[in-house]
Amino acid sequence: MTDSNEQHIIIVGGGMTGGLLGVLLAEAGLRVTVLDGAPVPAMPSGAAQLRVSTLTEASHWLLRNTGVWGLLDASRVQPYNAMQVWDQDGTGEVTFTAEEAGTDTLGWLLENGHLTAALYRRAETLDCLDWQCGISVDSVRREGEQWQVQCGDRQLMADLLVGADGARSRVREWAGISGGPRDSGHHALVATIATARPHGGCARQVFMESGPLALLPLYSDVQQGEQRQCSIVWSGWPERINDLKQCDPERFAMELQAAVADALGEVTLISERAVFPIQERHASSYVAPFLALVGDAAHVIHPLAGQGVNLGLLDAAVLAEEVIRACEAGLGCADVQALARYQRRRRGENLVMQNAMRGFQQLFEQRALPLRWLRNTGMKLVNQAGPVKGFFANRALGRSADLPVSARPPSTARNSG
Ligand SMILES: Cc1cc2nc3c(=O)[nH]c(=O)nc-3n(C[C@H](O)[C@H](O)[C@H](O)COP(=O)(O)OP(=O)(O)OC[C@H]3O[C@@H](n4cnc5c(N)ncnc54)[C@H](O)[C@@H]3O)c2cc1C
Repeated sequence: MTDSNEQHIIIVGGGMTGGLLGVLLAEAGLRVTVLDGAPVPAMPSGAAQLRVSTLTEASHWLLRNTGVWGLLDASRVQPYNAMQVWDQDGTGEVTFTAEEAGTDTLGWLLENGHLTAALYRRAETLDCLDWQCGISVDSVRREGEQWQVQCGDRQLMADLLVGADGARSRVREWAGISGGPRDSGHHALVATIATARPHGGCARQVFMESGPLALLPLYSDVQQGEQRQCSIVWSGWPERINDLKQCDPERFAMELQAAVADALGEVTLISERAVFPIQERHASSYVAPFLALVGDAAHVIHPLAGQGVNLGLLDAAVLAEEVIRACEAGLGCADVQALARYQRRRRGENLVMQNAMRGFQQLFEQRALPLRWLRNTGMKLVNQAGPVKGFFANRALGRSADLPVSARPPSTARNSG
């Protein structure tokens, strides 16, 4: 039997996934240190941050159940209750509403920095959790049944080491786990726009031959007016995206308005434009002895369906569930079976999502007439066929048969023990 109170878990990376994992483990009384090279995350104020995420129902329950949701500034969280997806090159269109999915809200849009700041505030209330900012991990090394973590001239020992250090994970590299990258052939441009017409709480996405463009409803801003600002993620071939980054704001706005078929009337660019190359990754293994990877350190998928961080939060929840169970059984926090179960429950699920995103990207790049006809007919059929549409709506909501207890509404969480 191992005394888990004596054991020490170190999480490298205090982004959204690392932060949530720290909170979940510390809530169960496990001793955790989160190390992050960035400064202390601050609650946002003023203009919207460029990096935002759509959160699913499962992510929302995770944050509600851990007391993090209540620490968010509600005026900067935008729920959406409809989704509209269409093909620019035809008449195919799929619409979902929250009502059809039997719920009030399909998802929420919030700034990444906002969520990290709320996680940090929650961490400050937990005695077992020590979240240290401005501390970069320089290297890690296996020492028997522990990992030695080197930060400058400090050394820390971990009984379980977790890599939550993002797409370019050094922990993954130091553990000798391969993980891509594979060039998706796309770059993604993010920006904030003001629109003449209100977004109406609807997330919109148009698929073009050159790539998908998402118009995501942002919180209401006093200056822009009620429901009149959106965050955009415009993915596509690098030359096209770099041209869109460099062109003057007026041309950018005109091109955007044309691409979304004037869906929200006149648009105005109200932020800078940032571009990210999209390199997919998938770790060959999520675990090694006394070590696990979560979030982007384990997998990076195309952002076209806004699922990346949602998968990462579920990784954190499943890993926490397995580790806590092993500790309660006296097996220790790095029990080999617990880590194997974590990998089994998450890797297949994440691979399916990654492949689906790749499939969508490739399908909409096709110019051949029969394929264009097929995808337009397919979209129309999905739109009309209740069960198929329900399947896609459930995926978008993050519902699945193997949800960890912490990602379920409290009533079902209680019933399933
Ligand atoms: C354009 C774009 C749009 C997206 N939109 C969505 C969306 O709508 N919905 C969605 O679900 N996902 C979206 N994603 C994906 C999402 O942003 C990522 O999946 C998510 O940010 C990953 O979180 P993470 O905590 O795993 O990693 P990260 O956010 O990368 O955090 C890693 C942390 O580790 C720290 N770190 C790294 N190395 C070290 C070190 N050596 N020592 C100490 N600390 C270290 C960093 O400082 C950082 O804080 C999008 C991605 C892109 C590119």
